[in-house]
Amino acid sequence: MLKTIKSLFVAGLLAGFLASCATSPTGRSQLLIVSPEAAIQRSALTYAEMVDSAASSDKLLNDPALAERVGAITGRLVARAVEVWPHTAGWNWSVMLIDDPDTPNAFCTAGGLMGVYSGLVSRLDLNDDELAQVMGHEIGHAIANHTAEKMSMSAVQRIAVLAVGLETEDRDLADLTNSLTQLGVLLPNSRTAEREADQIGMELAVQAGYDPAAGESVWQKFADLPGDSPPEFLSTHPSRESRGDRLKQLAQQYRGQAPANPPEPYPVTVHWDSGTN
Ligand SMILES: [Zn+2]
Repeated sequence: MLKTIKSLFVAGLLAGFLASCATSPTGRSQLLIVSPEAAIQRSALTYAEMVDSAASSDKLLNDPALAERVGAITGRLVARAVEVWPHTAGWNWSVMLIDDPDTPNAFCTAGGLMGVYSGLVSRLDLNDDELAQVMGHEIGHAIANHTAEKMSMSAVQRIAVLAVGLETEDRDLADLTNSLTQLGVLLPNSRTAEREADQIGMELAVQAGYDPAAGESVWQKFADLPGDSPPEFLSTHPSRESRGDRLKQLAQQYRGQAPANPPEPYPVTVHWDSGTN
């Protein structure tokens, strides 16, 4: 009897998973148990805390020229994103500039909440086209709901371990399932997410009027950085060479989509230390 209840429980979970499938902007099936809206709400809370904490610890960057430049570049990318995916016009598109010259990194979480570390621009000496490629990639993660997908994957992992534990009452098997789920589902999925962000990023950058060749050049600059832990743009890729090749292919694929005139920048809120508070 107990076994029947357990089997019904597992079957119910599987049915729930199947009902939660969505399709990403590049046509890939995604498992979204956590909804994009829930991920946006959660990210908004965390982001607001990050902005407050950076402001109170004097970690917002005081650099009017960079604030204007980042606002203009992300504004052009977002203008194109909103045109292609109109639901994102309701997002609270923002970028915070973090005073951290050692960290060559950037991010965009669910709902278009971005961050740029000052080390991204200073350590890599990025031009506008290269900065557009990095921010396009990060925006690609948000457009494709990767935060919701990652939250969903970790929920599936926890439930799969629980289900195997219930079925077998064997802790070792449950632990093995835990490891296999990480290797078999979580890691390839994050590689898939990086490839997808590269594709959406290239599409946005080219359509916003930026040079597609900058994808490969910025990638090379990241790859040439000495001995750091890998920044987000470098993360979870199986091999450095294959990504360089792929960025070159994507540049070829989207090169013809450059607009006659770049779009007017969309109003993006820029959080920086303007010295007024
Ligand atoms: Zn990424």
